[in-house]
Amino acid sequence: MAFLKFEDIDKSFGENNVISKFNLEVEKGKFIVLLGPSGCGKSTLLRMIAGLEKIDYGNILLENNLLNNLLPSKRQIAMVFQSYALYPHMNVFQNISFGLKSEKISKNQIKEKVIEAAKILKIEDLLDRRPKELSGGQRQRVAIGRAITRNPKLFLFDEPLSNLDAALRSEMRVEISKLHKKLKSNIVYVTHDQVEAMTLADKIVIMNKGNIEQFDTPEDIYTEPKNIFVAEFIGNPKMNIFKIKSNDIIDNNTFNLFGKKIVFENLNIKNDFFIGIRPEDISLENKGEITFEITLDLIENLGSEKILYSHVNGKEIRIKSSKNIKDKNITIYLPKNKIYLFDNNKNRLKR
Ligand code: ADP
Ligand code: MG
Repeated sequence: MAFLKFEDIDKSFGENNVISKFNLEVEKGKFIVLLGPSGCGKSTLLRMIAGLEKIDYGNILLENNLLNNLLPSKRQIAMVFQSYALYPHMNVFQNISFGLKSEKISKNQIKEKVIEAAKILKIEDLLDRRPKELSGGQRQRVAIGRAITRNPKLFLFDEPLSNLDAALRSEMRVEISKLHKKLKSNIVYVTHDQVEAMTLADKIVIMNKGNIEQFDTPEDIYTEPKNIFVAEFIGNPKMNIFKIKSNDIIDNNTFNLFGKKIVFENLNIKNDFFIGIRPEDISLENKGEITFEITLDLIENLGSEKILYSHVNGKEIRIKSSKNIKDKNITIYLPKNKIYLFDNNKNRLKR
């Protein structure tokens, strides 16, 4: 039995069809990340799970119970927002315990729960403070604390780290990951940040315009992208994609790439297609069958790594390397086993 199940979900705002035929089954205990560009429907989907947005068509089931018509408060789901959604006039204790007041439990039990959550989140010393006396990271911990005390079946996170600066973001990322391992909680987490998705998720849902492009482990998303959208969305800088026109196809095994004859056994493609190679898979050493002499246009130094920008036959090519570059004229090597092929419709061709 799936823990969380989406059946044919459809959602429009007026003429704008935001989610269409969305189907997904999630196992118990998993950290699921919805990843996709801004506006692709991630928050809408999350809000439908929480009951904050009406479902036009289809079903959402939690442990086989239909959620569609349940009040948000009856769903046993807790949501954490990007904006923290704390009450400014209440202190941390009151903010964390807010959701518990409506439950029939004693003051002592409430106190226990709040302190337990505060310990987990390392904010025990802040219980008397108001939100305005807290840093962004501390506020987000309070918001998470409020979710934890409700002991929900499912946690929903909507871009919880987007308002934090880079250093705090990576710190909180690690905290959230630890929290998941500790509480063995079920999490659906929305982000547009591929690093968050890759580091936090057991499985990633790559979304595009309200559809699922791929649902897989982070590793499979990276190594086995199903199409060009996924291939370009994961990885930084983006995968290099080059179009091969049908008149550059020489025979069943051979095509022309920037004036070089490339042989792939049993290629068997007749129409236009695409080849892809990740910047980090292009070598500056003698590793790879396909070589090009290039001149560098720009070097971006990131410290341990460098991003090299150049062009071949007028097409930009991006390379990631940790080598020290002294000469602007270099040879690059493209290993054939690192090359991805995509058909006319941008779907991956397995070889
Ligand atoms: P994401 O979270 O992936 O950035 P959203 O789910 O917020 O995307 O939005 C998806 C689309 O739905 C966008 O085009 C957005 O403008 C639209 N949308 C979201 N909420 C509403 C609303 N309450 N009314 C009208 N349009 C909305
Ligand atoms: Mg959103």
